[in-house]
Amino acid sequence: MSRIESVLTRIEPHLPPQAIVTDENERKTYECDGLAVHRTVPALVIRVTSTAEVALTVAACHEFDVPFVARGSGTGLSGGAQPHAEGVLIVMSTMRDILDIDPIAQRAIVQPGVINLNLSNEANPGGYYFAPDPSSQSVCSIGGNVAENSGGAHCLKYGFTTNHVTGVTLVTAHGEIVEIGGDAPEYPGYDLLGVLCGSEGTLGIVTEVTVRLTRLPEAVETLLIGFESTDAAGEAVSDIISAGIMPAAIEMMDALAIEAAEKAVACNYPEGAGAVLVVELDGPAIDVDLERETVIARAKDHGAGEIRVAVDNVERGLIWKGRKSAFAAVGRISPDYIVQDGVIPRSRLGPVLASISTIAEECGVRVANVFHAGDGNLHPLVLFDGSVEGQTELAETASGRILDLCLSEGGSITGEHGVGSDKAKFMPRMFTNDDLDTMQILRCAFDPNNLSNPGKVFPTPRLCGEPPRRTSGEHPLQAAGKAELF
Ligand SMILES: Cc1cc2nc3c(=O)[nH]c(=O)nc-3n(C[C@H](O)[C@H](O)[C@H](O)COP(=O)(O)OP(=O)(O)OC[C@H]3O[C@@H](n4cnc5c(N)ncnc54)[C@H](O)[C@@H]3O)c2cc1C
Repeated sequence: MSRIESVLTRIEPHLPPQAIVTDENERKTYECDGLAVHRTVPALVIRVTSTAEVALTVAACHEFDVPFVARGSGTGLSGGAQPHAEGVLIVMSTMRDILDIDPIAQRAIVQPGVINLNLSNEANPGGYYFAPDPSSQSVCSIGGNVAENSGGAHCLKYGFTTNHVTGVTLVTAHGEIVEIGGDAPEYPGYDLLGVLCGSEGTLGIVTEVTVRLTRLPEAVETLLIGFESTDAAGEAVSDIISAGIMPAAIEMMDALAIEAAEKAVACNYPEGAGAVLVVELDGPAIDVDLERETVIARAKDHGAGEIRVAVDNVERGLIWKGRKSAFAAVGRISPDYIVQDGVIPRSRLGPVLASISTIAEECGVRVANVFHAGDGNLHPLVLFDGSVEGQTELAETASGRILDLCLSEGGSITGEHGVGSDKAKFMPRMFTNDDLDTMQILRCAFDPNNLSNPGKVFPTPRLCGEPPRRTSGEHPLQAAGKAELF
């Protein structure tokens, strides 16, 4: 009996038939996440509905040494939920209940498959919402948000997912159920919750999440500001923030991204603009009034053209529709594209955007820029036509060079989309071997057998429990090219 058959035999009697997917065509529907160039059909798919079912499945994987991968909504853009060919894909989107909303404590308890926006929709009537707002919020899951430490337009002011999670139930890589954190804002001891947020499913599976709810602001103002160039818009961003204002969001789109959004959703952005900023201010009405005037003045200092202040929710919605649909919208102007995600210091926006356009020119591809300008989190969209020989490689080269550029500016290879399988190879460009070894030691403490989402985040599999820098010859797995010692 194969190892996967052993797992199936162990768990089958305890699960409803609809939870188990063995049919190859059906398994194929789970072969990738939002990064569709990386595809693997999982050996087995289990659709779970409770913590107990996750624990049962993971314990069987541990017993028979079978890798497992958690999958939320599959919107990740770095191949984090890409299945393992000899492993079990554990689908969490079937755990979709909001278990409790407590406005007095400003907490909610949810299952991990709950859609991000659904939680806010449920909390809104009581005057609250869940602040992390990825552009994919109408489809992505809160479990995926925790695993990726996802951000969004409003994370500039309100922080990333990690700032809004106070506790989780975790099924460890051995199949044990443990509680980390709870309702309280902070707990003594090591910050294990902080370690879990952003660990991309490599430390176990989250089956319940306690989140903070944020009070809806008294007033919200949304401004759409046109500029001649991304340079001018970039300088305006730095200037607005150095004026002491912390907008809820400052998003930038360049001319190519505007063209795509216009074609897709007719968002009516200023005609002929080389760049637009979407600036959102929120808080007490009196503060928002003052801040709006400062933003307008600073934008004018940098040659702003049209400045539009949304008069109602319909106009606000249309402004955001242009921005939030921008990734998918580039499909209107290019058959294929890579969504890149890197970070630079906000003050370097102008020069870095100029260098990106030089890279694009040298590689013979077009790059559209749409990003969270306030925190320097770039999302260059590298456009190409995969049916033209050599274009995919050129796009990948351009994409890699953009990440190198971010690193040379003191930035990061990812701001919010994670490392996954896609960027694992870039980790040694950002971290030293010692840094990576330290991360591995932590991973090994949670998952010594490397079963929880293996092959993600780290460039090559490494062995737990080996003395660092072994000197007495090669380990057999190392000799076979299957592992690297640390
Ligand atoms: C159009 C579009 C726009 C996007 N915009 C943004 C954005 O603005 N900001 C942003 O941060 N991201 C954005 N993303 C990326 C993506 O939506 C986020 O990373 C999101 O949090 C992924 O959630 P998911 O449920 O789809 O997770 P999946 O893609 O299913 O999984 C992501 C990772 O989480 C792990 N995982 C999932 N559930 C669990 C669990 N319960 N326990 C442990 N590990 C788990 C998986 O193994 C995988 O490593 C965007 C994606 C798209 C397609």
